Amino acid sequence: RPRVLSGIQPTSGSFHLGNYLGAVRQWVALQESHDAFYMVVDLHAITIPQDPARLRESTRLAAAQLLSAGLDPERCTLFVQSHLAEHTQLGWVMNCMTGFGEASRMTQFKDKSAKQGAEGTTVGLFTYPVLQVADILLYQAEQVPVGEDQRQHVELTRDVAERFNARYGHTFTVPRPRIVRETAKIYDLQEPTAKMSKSAASAKGRIDLMDDPKVSAKKFRSAVTDTGTEVRHDPENKPGVSNLLVIHSALTGITVPELEEKFAGQLYGALKTEVAGVFTDWVTPFRNRVLEYLDDPAELDRLLARGAEKARAVASVTLRETYDRVGFLPPA
Ligand code: ATP
Ligand code: MG
Repeated sequence: RPRVLSGIQPTSGSFHLGNYLGAVRQWVALQESHDAFYMVVDLHAITIPQDPARLRESTRLAAAQLLSAGLDPERCTLFVQSHLAEHTQLGWVMNCMTGFGEASRMTQFKDKSAKQGAEGTTVGLFTYPVLQVADILLYQAEQVPVGEDQRQHVELTRDVAERFNARYGHTFTVPRPRIVRETAKIYDLQEPTAKMSKSAASAKGRIDLMDDPKVSAKKFRSAVTDTGTEVRHDPENKPGVSNLLVIHSALTGITVPELEEKFAGQLYGALKTEVAGVFTDWVTPFRNRVLEYLDDPAELDRLLARGAEKARAVASVTLRETYDRVGFLPPA
């Protein structure tokens, strides 16, 4: 079974619909056919200030959402990044394998640091893609199922892995991104040319899975569309309508051309109302499952501890080999 690895930040608590359609849904499917490792990346979350009590809650909430989406701890390894020291340990080695200029070209860093301002931008935010390199290489992952926005970070991982292998001998599997084209980038409903994002300044265009479905339905009904009338998939000229069609299609399995036919002669309002309904039907049982998981935090913690054990069995082997290759004297 080929190995896959991916992670999601516990920032802000709720996952949004882009996280689910772009990433988490693929993770659920892949646990059937792949040796799958999935983690809640709390180390990445603190690249931006987090309230400690909230971060702890958000981490459990993230795990609960992953389980409710269909991850099964019997069929995949689900864990919390900070539970394994190996991530930061390999992260340091990878920092020393990455060029400053190379890291400076990461577009997510440019975007996020612009939002934080010079004083608010931490060195952690700058090196977070390098920690991600370590996250992936530790597990010798062949594929990394992510949304389009993460493609550049997986490319960086490939470059660093190849560089390390060339310098020290073959140590790491060189991974490739696994991106589902149709749902690779779900857009903000108010700003349909920007990706739906956890760290967006405004939550108005973001569909948070843990919101009251009534709030989300309202967001769908007030989604920004263009001034035309025809319901047609045309990302260039009709980004808002196209985004709604993609979301509808992803949740129902009805193809986009079929939807265009179904909505022929109808106005945008009809599409918005229907997507709101489709989403509500999907999210209501999902949300109830999450709330059930949260009722028993001790059980969640036990489950994550078992996941960390399974992850460590793989990560510790890679770290030991890396340290040896680099020339660190083994502890007696
Ligand atoms: P932030 O904006 O703070 O980075 P995020 O919304 O990107 O948060 P992450 O936890 O960084 O959330 O991403 C988790 C996964 O979701 C990644 O694989 C990412 O590529 C994917 N993803 C995030 N946003 C979208 C989106 N709008 N469409 C499709 N996939 C997405
Ligand atoms: Mg992100």
